[in-house]
Amino acid sequence: METVNKGPEPQAWANHRQTPGADYEATSELKFSLLTQQGFTCAYCGRRIPCIDRQFHDNKEPRADRMRIEHVIPRETLKTAEKRMIYENLVACCPGAIGYIPSKKGFASHHCDLRKGSSEIHFDIFDNNLPAYFKYVTNSKSQNAGAVIHVNSHDLQVEIGNTDRNSLESDSNVLNLNHPILRINRMAIIKAIEQKAIAESKRHSLNATWWKRLLFHFESMSENVKYINPETGNEERFPAYPAYRAIACFYIRKKLRACGAS
Ligand SMILES: [Zn+2]
Repeated sequence: METVNKGPEPQAWANHRQTPGADYEATSELKFSLLTQQGFTCAYCGRRIPCIDRQFHDNKEPRADRMRIEHVIPRETLKTAEKRMIYENLVACCPGAIGYIPSKKGFASHHCDLRKGSSEIHFDIFDNNLPAYFKYVTNSKSQNAGAVIHVNSHDLQVEIGNTDRNSLESDSNVLNLNHPILRINRMAIIKAIEQKAIAESKRHSLNATWWKRLLFHFESMSENVKYINPETGNEERFPAYPAYRAIACFYIRKKLRACGAS
């Protein structure tokens, strides 16, 4: 998981907050601000957003959502409109239903904000040190390949999600970030990096400079996405982080340490 760096509150949201009788509302200006500040990636799983997921419920049509706005401190516990509208408590999340797990409908297939609901999490996604608290299983032969692991705390590991399939239905697996499809997608990033490294090593010997350049790609908003700017009503291109950058950064930093660079 990478730190969510929140920028300043947009003026349109400040105006909304200060309107008499106002309460929390997912306005297009609010969505736009959260998305651009987060480089169009989910605060928890790091997927590209907006994106469309199909949500499976018994006797209901699949529903498509493009993004969700998450109250990190759950909205249900905030007793006043003023608190529900605090910009610093809001982040952009993916729709939270990346894949349907056969025989595991609804809740068991959900992740991120959709899964979290009114539960609390006990780590700080705004902490600059956040990446240091997580490691990833990058060995493709491991049965836990692609898993995110909390390095210090069993309780927080349960909260972010175990790889055990029995945990899919557990309320204590708050974020379900080891959903099988999230793990497959993380490993696809590792595979792409490995293939790039093999291709490069055929031409030159891989050195710290090459890895540092690749790290810069994943640490910065080096990609872009099309999105309708609510200020102009036009579709424009905006800077975006690469999807699932946390596992990529973890893997590359490990390679840099092996090169003797930090
Ligand atoms: Zn997500």
